[in-house]
Amino acid sequence: MACNNTQAPPKMREPIVIATPYDSPSISNSGDKGSADEILSLAKEKTTDDLLAAFRSESTAAAKYAAFSKRADKDGYHQVALLFKAASTTEIIHASNHNAVLDESGVKVAPVNPEYTVKTTRENLQEAIKCERYEASTMYPELLKDAEESGSQLAVLSLTYALKVEKKYQRLYENALIATDNLRTKELASEYYICPTCGNTFEVKPSQRCGVCMTDSGKFIKIIGL
Ligand SMILES: [Zn+2]
Repeated sequence: MACNNTQAPPKMREPIVIATPYDSPSISNSGDKGSADEILSLAKEKTTDDLLAAFRSESTAAAKYAAFSKRADKDGYHQVALLFKAASTTEIIHASNHNAVLDESGVKVAPVNPEYTVKTTRENLQEAIKCERYEASTMYPELLKDAEESGSQLAVLSLTYALKVEKKYQRLYENALIATDNLRTKELASEYYICPTCGNTFEVKPSQRCGVCMTDSGKFIKIIGL
């Protein structure tokens, strides 16, 4: 599940210490077909697993993009560094949202030990594009479908926020890669504004509300130089 820059297999099911308030329900098909309650229970369990995986993925991304930001700054790509800094902030918001939904249902998450590799800024941008594309096109749509089946409105909300914003970052990273290849990174944004609720990101401060979650733009987080 976690999008990382290694060739390691997906880490969605890696063991992690999680305190849950319940034992995993045993699933039995003995006798009748699964009842509606059993189906709903399974869907809820699946959504919990999904949110845990998404939390780990976002936490890893936050650390990774922070490291990419430092590397870009060191390489002299200050605007790309700023974009990675904004992305790291956004991923923290997404991880925090997922954590809040899990907490609401009594599930405690264990700290994440992020694994990633820092390469050149160009390679880091390629890695970031790959991750955002995967999250926006595959991961979050699948998790969102599970959440809708589980009936968890909070999970749907948290996953929708992340899905919409990851799509935006895919475009921002693609533009940054083009700018890097054309030696025009200085033309990239020199500040970003981030919605503290959903992570929505703007290169120019919007005058009214967030288009994803309706938060007043007066509450947005301003991201400036490192
Ligand atoms: Zn928002």
